[in-house]
Amino acid sequence: MFWAEGAQAIPNKQAIWDGRRCATYEELSAGASRVARALISQPGHVAGEIIAFWVPPSVQYVEIQWGIWRAGGVAVPLCVQHPTAELEHSLSEGGVSRVIHARGFDPHIEALRSAFPNVTFHSSDELLKARPGGAPPPLPVVDSTWAPRPAQILFTSGTTGRPKAAVATHGNIEAQVRTLVASWGWSSKDHALGVLPLHHTHGIINVLCCALAAGASVELFEKFDAGTIWDRLMRPRDGAKTTVFMAVPTIYSALLEWHDAQSPVTQTWLKEAASGLRLWVSGSAALPVSTLMRWREVSNHTLLERYGMTEIGMALSNPLGGERRAGSVGLPLPGVEVRLVDEAGVEVPGADRSGEIQVRGAMVFSGYFGREEATRASFTADGWFKTGDTAVRDEQGYYRILGRSSVDILKTGGYKVSALEIEEALCEFPGVREIAVVGVPDEKWGERVAAAIVPDPAVALEMERLEEFALRRLARYKVPTLWLECRALPRNAMGKVTKPEVLRLFSAVRR
Ligand code: AMP
Repeated sequence: MFWAEGAQAIPNKQAIWDGRRCATYEELSAGASRVARALISQPGHVAGEIIAFWVPPSVQYVEIQWGIWRAGGVAVPLCVQHPTAELEHSLSEGGVSRVIHARGFDPHIEALRSAFPNVTFHSSDELLKARPGGAPPPLPVVDSTWAPRPAQILFTSGTTGRPKAAVATHGNIEAQVRTLVASWGWSSKDHALGVLPLHHTHGIINVLCCALAAGASVELFEKFDAGTIWDRLMRPRDGAKTTVFMAVPTIYSALLEWHDAQSPVTQTWLKEAASGLRLWVSGSAALPVSTLMRWREVSNHTLLERYGMTEIGMALSNPLGGERRAGSVGLPLPGVEVRLVDEAGVEVPGADRSGEIQVRGAMVFSGYFGREEATRASFTADGWFKTGDTAVRDEQGYYRILGRSSVDILKTGGYKVSALEIEEALCEFPGVREIAVVGVPDEKWGERVAAAIVPDPAVALEMERLEEFALRRLARYKVPTLWLECRALPRNAMGKVTKPEVLRLFSAVRR
């Protein structure tokens, strides 16, 4: 049980704070056992059951995550902000048979119940309070034979269709966590602020699982708010001084924006607070060098930029102790094999030549649930995972990301988004004849989702209603924030929409 090693070593230590509760490692373990026993006692429970949970970042989140693992199940954390349509997709794509949900999501749950009559729904409070009659059912013994078993499903966008369900085994997660704990120097002395959503690998693995495996503590926030985070850095909760912070570049931009709006005296205090951390990490999207430089002025720290992906965990990282290079994602992490491959599938030798990043190692996921063809297509014959990202390596082995091989994959605020999925959803709205979605470069968001629309002249297109329609169908971060009506989409001689031209339409309008 690598995930609960901290719990075994220091049971009485505070592990998690949320807005309402704090819990020691012992309390987390007890909560997890209660969840596991309740799950095992349920009619229809089977070993390896795929169980989704829809719970905000909290003590309860961890009790349920650990509880599902203790019961031998596969944990599927759902995004708490997703509309019903996205959740429906997650339940069917991930093969979910049981859902545990927090209070306050009732209208969605009612809709899901009728759409999925064969799925069992439990309220998290009831499950945690459950005291099954008779002798408690024995829990399975977790040991190293669990390594190849599926442990977690996360959803990730690709160039085709809707998000796919990436399955990570216990062995994958353990490899990811152990590498990061060692490489980034996690210890029981650390205290982290958890501001990232807990349905994505960055928040779940890099922050929560690493902290708890190392016996550290974490304060979880339901939502990121720059003022709240600065305040917490200056005024530690219960004496727990923050030592580690991890976020996407958009969050660093927001922290800088808030900082810059304060008086010079306050800025001095902020600098003192930020300098006191031992590690600031950025990832999940390209960190603009300007943000790195500004952050250095504000905190006296060089942000440690790393590169990873839902399917592989973290692969490349600037060093904890050595030189951190601006604009670079660093070197392969221990235990991760990384190579660059050209379009002919040949490994690129030496430095300064670009190629696709391919990754191999114990941390690489086992495949996409129920999608054998997509899984096969994402690996080479000799087992390297094809990331779809292009990079160059310098003489010292540091990698620099050049971009993605598909223009249809966008990164906005750290979220990976498929342009095609958005186009498909919005095309169904009356009055939209054609649509092309692109990512417009943006200092704060990395890319903003932008939609060029050709309206149907026979139907009046109501833009406000189109946005409402999009919010019902898609996660908020997938909904375009830039819209452009045009008479025709730019196409090449074959009739294919030329996305670089679409992008230029937006640049022309914004100038
Ligand atoms: P996700 O699976 O949502 O974590 O997205 C993974 C993708 O994010 C990668 O394939 C890259 O395209 C992008 N990414 C992650 N880290 C970085 C980084 N430091 N710089 C640039 N792109 C990144």
